[in-house]
Amino acid sequence: MNEGIITASYIAASALFIMALGGLAHQESARRGNFYGMLGMGIAVVVTIIGFVENNEFMLIAGIVVGSIIGYILAKRVEMTQMPELVAVLHSLVGLAAVFVGWANALEHDPALTGIALSIHAVETYIGIMIGALTFSGSVMAYLKLSGKVGGKPLHIPGRHLFNIVLGLIALYFMLQYMDTAATGGVLALTIMTIVALIFGIHMVAAIGGADMPVVVSMLNSYSGWAAAAMGFMLGNDLLIVVGALVGSSGAILSYIMCKAMNRKFFNVIFGGIGSKKAGGAGAAGPAGNAEDIRSVESDEAADMLLNAKEVMILPGYGMAVAQAQHTVFEITKKLRDKGINVRFGIHPVAGRMPGHMNVLLAEAKVPYDIVYEMEEINEDFPNVDVSIVIGANDIVNPAAQEVPDSPIAGMPVLEPWNGKQTIVMKRSMGTGYAGVDNPLFYKENTRMLFGDAKERLDQILKVIG
Ligand code: NDP
Repeated sequence: MNEGIITASYIAASALFIMALGGLAHQESARRGNFYGMLGMGIAVVVTIIGFVENNEFMLIAGIVVGSIIGYILAKRVEMTQMPELVAVLHSLVGLAAVFVGWANALEHDPALTGIALSIHAVETYIGIMIGALTFSGSVMAYLKLSGKVGGKPLHIPGRHLFNIVLGLIALYFMLQYMDTAATGGVLALTIMTIVALIFGIHMVAAIGGADMPVVVSMLNSYSGWAAAAMGFMLGNDLLIVVGALVGSSGAILSYIMCKAMNRKFFNVIFGGIGSKKAGGAGAAGPAGNAEDIRSVESDEAADMLLNAKEVMILPGYGMAVAQAQHTVFEITKKLRDKGINVRFGIHPVAGRMPGHMNVLLAEAKVPYDIVYEMEEINEDFPNVDVSIVIGANDIVNPAAQEVPDSPIAGMPVLEPWNGKQTIVMKRSMGTGYAGVDNPLFYKENTRMLFGDAKERLDQILKVIG
């Protein structure tokens, strides 16, 4: 294929990826953003195959077909609640691809490269494999944690900072070794570094836990981008560099936003394990109130409370996703609004198990965007709210974040329904949320607990309201 056509196609694909990111910034344009992204990727794949592939076309096409079928089946089957795990798995595959490309590149490097060019190439390859390996193992660990196959509690080995520093120094030492030996293969240095990076990835993610996990998800998203960019440098492919940089930087920005939303410092989350130091603290242990202070209600009473309200605030969390209750929530919203009751939604930035989780569910259920508010937009309005209804949320409405200084979630901004007149909390038990912290909200005088599966209970409420 003519080089001009390849360049023009790559520029078009890059523009489409940038438009995709722009589209994904707003719910209204997210679908369009996805379409641009798919179109850009389609162009990139086709042009790269036609323009560069000279051998083994059959194997390549067969790989793409098999991969696409597996991807299609997985995407169809995956439940909304499993999306974060799927995302973690996909990040791990990007990391693994970078490791394979790096190793192939190292084992069959261009013999024409010498001197400075060889050194630069060696560094690109080394860093590419390193980022790829730690993205791979870190993402697998994140998958295990998010899916509950490994406990969510942070793992803190004694002297962990020293351990990280030693791993970093080993990686640095072998990079210098590899630069000297790259011309003759440098397999030993690469092998040791790959193992070190794999251990580092596991250790880094294992040490983060509880409420800090959202930062891990966005951080791995960022790493997978940098791994792709590193592949781009190794292969001399400009489009891969651009795409990798876009994913890497947008993931880094998302990590920053997540840290800000949770009032955490990025480096403290990654290296300090803020959540973990306090995980065993008093805030984490034991119930946050007396059993006799728990006031439960039934669905019909809850429905009456909603019907008698003028201002209703709905606060959804992970349990709404588990119960798949978003459509019933929308039906109830419609009915209440028809009766002249002002209904709004308050969304915490880390509600659910992935960034934007609640927004996706509400958009799926066709809840109008203009009644969905971010936490900081509505937190001050709670004194005017007659009834807040917490649907399967826990950590994001936990006053311990403000009241208990040694709580694992201390300092994290939370939604404040207790400042309103009445709160209905829907959940199945008195169990804790993801961070494993008991919730004093459940014992407050103006809180009513509505126990049971959120979908079943909301269906009952809908019947009464209807
Ligand atoms: P939580 O995990 O804190 O609480 C969810 C609550 O939902 C549980 O206490 C559970 O209580 C209840 N629940 C579960 N299933 C049902 C059901 N079928 N019907 C009714 N209730 C149900 O979720 P939040 O959204 O409040 O907070 C999110 C947490 O996840 C934060 O700690 C956040 O840091 C973390 N996290 C967020 C990520 C993100 O990117 N958004 C990624 C990773 C972690 P019960 O069992 O009693 O029913």
